[in-house]
Amino acid sequence: MRFFKGLFLPVVISVSSVAIAQDEGNVLSSSVCDSNVIPVCWESFTESSANQRSWIQNAVSDTWSDNSRAEFTGWGQCSSGSAGVRIQVSDVGPHVKGLGKNLNGLSNGMVLNFTYNNWSPSCQSDVQYCSEVIAIHEFGHALGFAHEQNRTDTPDSCTDSPQGTDGDVYIGKWDLDSVMNYCNPQWNAAGELSETDIVMVQKYYDSEKLILSSYDDLPAFSADYYLLYNHDIARAFGKSNFKAAKEHWDKHGKKEGRVSSPSFNVKEYISLYSDLTRVFGTNYAAAVNHFKVYGIKEGRKSSKSFDVKFYLSSHSDLKRVFGATNYLAAHKHWAQYGLKEGRRSTSSFDVSNYLDRYNDLKNAFGDNNYLAALQHWIRYGLKEGRNGN
Ligand SMILES: [Zn+2]
Repeated sequence: MRFFKGLFLPVVISVSSVAIAQDEGNVLSSSVCDSNVIPVCWESFTESSANQRSWIQNAVSDTWSDNSRAEFTGWGQCSSGSAGVRIQVSDVGPHVKGLGKNLNGLSNGMVLNFTYNNWSPSCQSDVQYCSEVIAIHEFGHALGFAHEQNRTDTPDSCTDSPQGTDGDVYIGKWDLDSVMNYCNPQWNAAGELSETDIVMVQKYYDSEKLILSSYDDLPAFSADYYLLYNHDIARAFGKSNFKAAKEHWDKHGKKEGRVSSPSFNVKEYISLYSDLTRVFGTNYAAAVNHFKVYGIKEGRKSSKSFDVKFYLSSHSDLKRVFGATNYLAAHKHWAQYGLKEGRRSTSSFDVSNYLDRYNDLKNAFGDNNYLAALQHWIRYGLKEGRNGN
């Protein structure tokens, strides 16, 4: 798709009338959206464009949203007061009229092309592909990300000119593979986020702290953790739909033995104790109930990565505040604070050591994202035989 380059690239048109002197970069930090949940609507909404609209929605969901907490919601027809990203469909060069929250509520703030009769007719050979990779780039702008080739450390080998609004924060080294880089040898990076793109979106749209909500039933269930860990549920209901998460957990998740909180994993809980294995087997819902009624009080180890007795006895500040046997308080402390602080949580698992030990994890999650590191350990690390101690 190299032949498109330089001819019909999507552009950013800066709407600011005064150019403010600032370092070039690839994130305009002041434009980063205030919320992880960003509404989207279509100014031009026809039944016949249903396929095209779903391509765009899925492409954005599969890239930016799958790698962060950023979530684009709505996707219906705009009304006069619609907030968020307002997409006009027009047969012109796709572009945005600002970065990040500067697009909030702006009429025709993003322009996408569905037909390619006038602009880039070569896209007619694969309308879906063109539409998807362009949308991924434009939604990068909607998140506040500027063009990579605008950076001052752009090498001479990249001859594409800076375009549109500059950022003011650099993330990582200059990145040829970024979806925001015109010099990428793959047109619009073929819609693949680079490692740096992922670090960037996680830095700005991935709280490293668990979000607490009224739908939580700690320590057995954290709605936020449930959605973070169970991607299929987040995809079905939305990453911030804590109410739906709770309903799913009550109706299905308990029975299915889903991972449901930072300190409780029902399948591991059963496997750690022969009495529980004998009585409950695969009756996960009953084991959840056992944990809530007895397990917490007894101070039972509730997952391979959390041992409440160890946690309380090995952190003297907690023992001092909570006493030696307030296991419920210790569980909640881990979910709210201890995990974020990277505290050791069993004699054989230390989330901080785990993240420090593996560069691939640090590159993927950042140096202090223990919330992500814990999930990695449960999902992959244990099976891969990684050292979590
Ligand atoms: Zn652009």
